[in-house]
Amino acid sequence: MQEVILLKLGEIVLKGLNRNTFEGALLKNIRRRLAPVGPFDVRFAQSTISITPGPGADFEAAVDRVRKIFGVITFSRACVTEKTMESVCAAAVEYLRPQLSAVRAFKVETKRSDKKFPLKSPEISAEVGAALLDAYPNLHVDVHNPDVTVRVEIRDFGAYVHGEPEQGAGGIPVGTGGKAALLISGGIDSPVAAWMMAKRGVELTPVHFASPPYTSERAEQKVADLLRRVAAYAGRMYMITVPFARVQEEILDKCPEEYFTILMRRFMMRISAEIAKIEDCAALITGESLGQVASQTMQAIAVTDEASPLPVFRPLIGMDKSEIVSISRKIDTYDLSVLPYEDCCTVFTPRHPRTRPELAAVLEAERALDVESLVRACVEGRRVTKITAESV
Ligand code: ATP
Ligand code: MG
Repeated sequence: MQEVILLKLGEIVLKGLNRNTFEGALLKNIRRRLAPVGPFDVRFAQSTISITPGPGADFEAAVDRVRKIFGVITFSRACVTEKTMESVCAAAVEYLRPQLSAVRAFKVETKRSDKKFPLKSPEISAEVGAALLDAYPNLHVDVHNPDVTVRVEIRDFGAYVHGEPEQGAGGIPVGTGGKAALLISGGIDSPVAAWMMAKRGVELTPVHFASPPYTSERAEQKVADLLRRVAAYAGRMYMITVPFARVQEEILDKCPEEYFTILMRRFMMRISAEIAKIEDCAALITGESLGQVASQTMQAIAVTDEASPLPVFRPLIGMDKSEIVSISRKIDTYDLSVLPYEDCCTVFTPRHPRTRPELAAVLEAERALDVESLVRACVEGRRVTKITAESV
């Protein structure tokens, strides 16, 4: 029996040119994500994308990957049959055996896009329904409250039979929402922020600040591992690692301790914005949420943003930790995030950080530093690592 995946597209309210961009990006993303488990034939016809496995393709792995592709509202596994009532009925009986054996009430819905097919939709539904009643004594028809709706589609080139569609990842296809630099640590929050922005179609360039010798290679590895999980949703990425110890040492050495964190965060913004320019990114993304720690008060955020020439997106700003944790479990990053490796921020933590820093005082403290050359050295010292989705 030939099995395929059928996708219904998301946010189809998008019209005109946008709609073409959306569909083109989605097709490209699907082809790219399925290539490692393929071959698959991916095509768009009659407002549905169909994914057909070729020889040796791993169909289960493909279903799992499709679940994580943004832009898909629902999808169904379907069986392809010949366009005769005999084949369609036989396929419905066989293909949906696990679902139909387990329930009592069903109905059949038919969509007939091939208007030359001899039977009309209600007649097709009635005939398939009769075949199912014959085969399954446990079943009766209930058109108002079915446990399972059996769907038949009569297309130009063949017919499909499938059951209840599954919920897709929603959102819009990655690549249609521009490109942004993602400030990623090894914590719980930034991978969730990444997922949220990828869901809005944003392509990500992750930037990670590492502080060897204070932070270990293992801590950097952890960030790459987290990104591999995120890449299952966000697609492949190029992670940029920035050597940050020199900046931190300078601040520690030359500035009042209470401003350490805010000054460090201003450097992160500047350096990320420089990298964003090189990488053609139009915004920065962080995993901050209001009031979570001293550097995430409204005043501290204002002082931080003053150093960024680009808009800073903070998708978690209004979320509780428990809400963030529940997304991180869903996207499978939580277990990695809680591994106890040091981050550059935790290595140097002031005892009494300023929760309401004044911009003038921070600018004054910053005058002790050669900001431009520190930023330049960080940008020049960056390393690039290719990140592809962890195979499932
Ligand atoms: P997270 O769970 O993402 O680490 P957090 O709640 O621990 O966030 P902070 O450690 O203050 O908060 O970091 C706030 C944000 O700053 C992070 O979400 C991330 O976007 C950015 N950030 C922090 N540390 C780094 C780092 N080493 N490299 C890149 N970005 C970082
Ligand atoms: Mg952190």
